[in-house]
Amino acid sequence: MGANAPAGTLHALLERPQSAAPAADLRMAPTASSSTVGAPPQAQPVPAVTQAAAPLPAAASKPVPRPGASVLPPPSPQAGEGTAAQRMEALRTLAVACTQCPNLAAARAQVVFGQGSVEAALMIIGEAPGAEEDQEGRPFAGEAGELLEKMLKVMGLSMGAVYATSVLKCHPFVPGEPGALRPPHAEELERCLPYLAAQISLVQPKVIVALGAGAMHALFGGKTPMGSLRSQWHEVQGIPVMPTFHPRYLLRNDDVRERRKVWEDLMQVMERLGLTVTERHRSFFLKGA
Ligand code: SF4
Repeated sequence: MGANAPAGTLHALLERPQSAAPAADLRMAPTASSSTVGAPPQAQPVPAVTQAAAPLPAAASKPVPRPGASVLPPPSPQAGEGTAAQRMEALRTLAVACTQCPNLAAARAQVVFGQGSVEAALMIIGEAPGAEEDQEGRPFAGEAGELLEKMLKVMGLSMGAVYATSVLKCHPFVPGEPGALRPPHAEELERCLPYLAAQISLVQPKVIVALGAGAMHALFGGKTPMGSLRSQWHEVQGIPVMPTFHPRYLLRNDDVRERRKVWEDLMQVMERLGLTVTERHRSFFLKGA
């Protein structure tokens, strides 16, 4: 992604000049210069989750909204202190009280912040919580979550060993259609992305898996379908990102060839994580393909 990443994407946030916002700004996370988006973050402190959000700098020609300005607390003397786990909990505390999207905040059962280990080598990011996640308060709940757990198990991992979250932390409901899930609005993403940026910064995973085209569009902009995005490495905050189909897609399309595609992506992730990929792994979902 270049300097023209769309507003409302993680890259757009990270593209903003580092000098224009304090290093401790929740929304800036590890920053990249305007010309080096995607380059490894330089040694710098993890964002202080208790710091106030300073205004985002204006884009070249158009003012940028100020996500977080109304909800984040003023600077604290303790800003920047504590372990990653403590700072993640402080961030969670901010998120569960967040009302920047008044409609979502009023309708949600719970903020679906994220779960797992802050020391995880693998971070899994979906687009937004569905109705089941909203009720349970955890990402990847329900049948899709069960399928994800099965895939992780075959990789030699578990939900407790990874860090799972979504770009949007509140369920984007459809009025009058209980249980329906709509794509997040751009302004909702713009407000919520700072939380994800801080989560990535705190976990510093070796690899990110982006589940579903919606997650990729929120991270990188554009509307490229998952069929064209998957199987190739992307990068955010210097961390390799592998996009693949969301388990919900696999549940809707019960086709072994689609499962094989996801599995091929996950084998690439395993190799990047240094996990052993056996011949048995390589043969999964090949029968009938
Ligand atoms: S979606 Fe994100 S920014 Fe909007 S109210 Fe929920 S936590 Fe806050």
